[in-house]
Amino acid sequence: MNKQLRRAVIAGNWKMNKNRAEAKTLVEELKPLVKDAGCGVVVCVPFTDLETVLAAAAGSNIHVGAQNCHFAPSGAYTGEISASMLTEMGVEYVVLGHSERRQYFGETDVTVNQRLRAALDAGLLPIVCVGELLQQREQGVTAEVVGMQTRIALGGVTRDELRRIIIAYEPVWAIGTGKTATAQQAGEVCGLIRKTVADLYGAEAAAALTVQYGGSMKGSNAAELLAQPDVDGGLIGGAALKAPDFAAIVEAASK
Ligand code: PEP
Repeated sequence: MNKQLRRAVIAGNWKMNKNRAEAKTLVEELKPLVKDAGCGVVVCVPFTDLETVLAAAAGSNIHVGAQNCHFAPSGAYTGEISASMLTEMGVEYVVLGHSERRQYFGETDVTVNQRLRAALDAGLLPIVCVGELLQQREQGVTAEVVGMQTRIALGGVTRDELRRIIIAYEPVWAIGTGKTATAQQAGEVCGLIRKTVADLYGAEAAAALTVQYGGSMKGSNAAELLAQPDVDGGLIGGAALKAPDFAAIVEAASK
């Protein structure tokens, strides 16, 4: 399948890090380092940083995302944030189904699908995370797990809507652990995700889908991972918290 058909996107997931002053500093440091990027550059920041980061990134090539949104448009959901609350601020992207949401906050494939539907309805660009646990990899069921997560997440999504979606393959055992999937493992599962999408939407739609790898990606391993034919970018945790580290990955994706 032709990599030229799709754009590489490097997205930082800041998780629960950076107060507003720190967020502003990080974006200001990042701007000159990524201004000539040959790939999409996104930072997904805590809700409380969104306004600051949107202002700091205004006029630059840095796009701004949130790390979750609720599936209802409004209502009695104390502590939650709706998709339209994000778009109203000017937020473009949202991470959905991150393994930390699944692990600590009871997210399931079904709620990821509900949140995806809400995000699409509100006009957001979702980054949907899928990935197997270590035990699942060891038991040889990675393909089944990731295929099922992908299929359920995309339930009810039209081919037109698919064009706005990025899928991030994030093996849970590689997130924040320093253990990176080998380039071959990453390429294999990203290819599998594309094949699942091809089964659902056809080869053309699948060839245009951006599939990221995430899991301890850093400047030193990014080039090898991104060279895989089915890896179109990265979702970056730890290395997104320092401007030079994140910029090194953006540079690798720009080549
Ligand atoms: C992530 O949280 O999405 C992630 C990939 O984290 P890290 O890069 O720190 O493994």
